[in-house]
Amino acid sequence: PDFSHFKLNKQILTAVEEAGYTKPTEIQERAIPLMLAGQDLFGIAPTGTGKTAAYVLPLLMKLKYAQGDHPRALILAPTRELVLQIEGVVKQMGKYTDLRSIALIGGKGIKPQAEAVAAGMDILIATPGRFWDVYATGALLPRFIKTMVMDEADKMLDMGFRHQINKILEVVPPKRQNALFSATMGERVTELAGNFLDFPERIEI
Ligand code: AMP
Repeated sequence: PDFSHFKLNKQILTAVEEAGYTKPTEIQERAIPLMLAGQDLFGIAPTGTGKTAAYVLPLLMKLKYAQGDHPRALILAPTRELVLQIEGVVKQMGKYTDLRSIALIGGKGIKPQAEAVAAGMDILIATPGRFWDVYATGALLPRFIKTMVMDEADKMLDMGFRHQINKILEVVPPKRQNALFSATMGERVTELAGNFLDFPERIEI
């Protein structure tokens, strides 16, 4: 099957087609319908499986139109490189929507990032540390975040982001749709998933 059997709109399907994706990968086949249905998701999938599009496509579909003000979706990832890679997929797949995204990463000044956030967006992609630094400036209102994704959660824990993740979970609204992806499934990831996810469907690739 191709992507047309998912309940994605024409704007998104056109971008998928232009990206050269003709056939969904296994994680996409299984995750997209669940996420579109509003389920929480625990995905055990290494990189290279197409996990990014598996959550980006339903995310774009659910946000649908820009409000372009405060973030309604938050994607956390461990490294600058991964944040920028995810942002690339968000921009690529969202090119025919008017949704706006911002990447928050270390190595750049906090002030320009806080200003960019103040100018508005729909989707925020960030490392946990930088999300927290920008939040601490007061520029960021997390009250409207309704969807949250943790990508490479095992790596975020390995890098010592647990404390920041905990703090972030205290400032986002409790009622959200969540997805957590991890290449491995150790005790700590399972514990984080237990905290973060609400009755998740589990997909292992
Ligand atoms: P990821 O696992 O999300 O890092 O994706 C790995 C690579 O596979 C990226 O270069 C994607 O652009 C590509 N990719 C993801 N899904 C598909 C698909 N359905 N068809 C072809 N390429 C894909």
